[in-house]
Amino acid sequence: MTGRKLIAGNWKMNGSLNANLALLKGIQSGLQAPACDVAVCVPASYLAQCQALLASSPIELGAQDVSQHEAGAYTGEISAVMLKDFGVRYVIVGHSERRQYHAESDNQVAAKAQRALANGITPIVCVGESLSERESGLTEEVVKRQLAAVIHLNGHCISEIVVAYEPVWAIGTGKTASPEMAQQVHAVLRAQLKAATPHSDRVRILYGGSMNAGNAAELLAQQDIDGGLIGGASLKPQDFLTIIAAAH
Ligand code: PEP
Repeated sequence: MTGRKLIAGNWKMNGSLNANLALLKGIQSGLQAPACDVAVCVPASYLAQCQALLASSPIELGAQDVSQHEAGAYTGEISAVMLKDFGVRYVIVGHSERRQYHAESDNQVAAKAQRALANGITPIVCVGESLSERESGLTEEVVKRQLAAVIHLNGHCISEIVVAYEPVWAIGTGKTASPEMAQQVHAVLRAQLKAATPHSDRVRILYGGSMNAGNAAELLAQQDIDGGLIGGASLKPQDFLTIIAAAH
């Protein structure tokens, strides 16, 4: 990959007005000219608060999901245009928790990525195998199928997306893929991107799944690991700062 790594926090359904203030203050007070790009993907209800808190900060604002539809009768959904109103730069699509609990299909994830791109928001497209898929030797097949769905987005180049490899069995479990295991899958994804675009070097492939202050440096040193998508550790300022410092 050419360019800067990206460290993105995924707060999931955590936070409050007070907790967000303390967390962002803690991160910002320890952040001096980071050598990587940094983002926090916050709950939609706190976008306005976080936009204001990050106004003169190098930390960019992200969201955790977006509707595949443009506007209209979709109760409870949030459109890309609405996210744009709050200065959202990144949006996670296809997180395994959405695929699992909301039955999101590969095609829906692709439609969401497309909608984000059409509105100038970079989708962070998550792919990853479950434990039973890994144990059945299906890891490559699963992640390639998930990435293939977004590879030919109408009118947009695949090089505009960010990919996040998140083995489902490693998310929130404390089990991390070893750096070698992660690199192996990242290399597969890189090869797939290479076959799709001459600009594959521009696509950042993040690793996510129990990345923390202790294991980040080793993971981020792998050739095709271009950053991290961080859940639990992004809620602890010092841990998040340590991960950011490891990404150069
Ligand atoms: C995630 O939810 O994207 C994630 C990687 O979570 P955790 O870091 O807590 O495993």
